Amino acid sequence: MQNLVNSWFSVVLAVVFASVAVWCFVPQENDGAIIRYTKYALGVNFAVSSYMLVGPPIVIETDLSWMGMAGFSSGPFIVLDNSWDWPDYVLRHEYQHFCQQAILTPLVSGVLSKVSLFINLIIYRDWHEAYINTWHERDAREHEEDGFEFDYIGGK
Ligand SMILES: [Zn+2]
Repeated sequence: MQNLVNSWFSVVLAVVFASVAVWCFVPQENDGAIIRYTKYALGVNFAVSSYMLVGPPIVIETDLSWMGMAGFSSGPFIVLDNSWDWPDYVLRHEYQHFCQQAILTPLVSGVLSKVSLFINLIIYRDWHEAYINTWHERDAREHEEDGFEFDYIGGK
């Protein structure tokens, strides 16, 4: 996946996703409780993606050493471990996950990464190999050294 975020394509997609979000939040007369709350959840999903397609990620630095992670990306947030002086490629790697979620929406991106992990567990029969070979991780690794510059809120 190339850097489609903050391109003309992402502006168009952001408008489409925002429209879907608005539709989800407008209650319909015949919607029961389950349909109504499902649509609210989908509305949040599309609204978050709409922001991510045109807005900067929000970087939060905190101690993640207890989790054994350099960082992770969730919706508009990129969380990085502040217990070490993280190199730029760590932020770039997590930004690629941000882009994946912006375009696929957090919900679809999350489901696809779980399906990909499950299939890889059958293929590799090893948790680490399965994880690092998911499409999401391969895509993020391919871009982490590409020198792409982007704006973000917070961080160092
Ligand atoms: Zn990753």
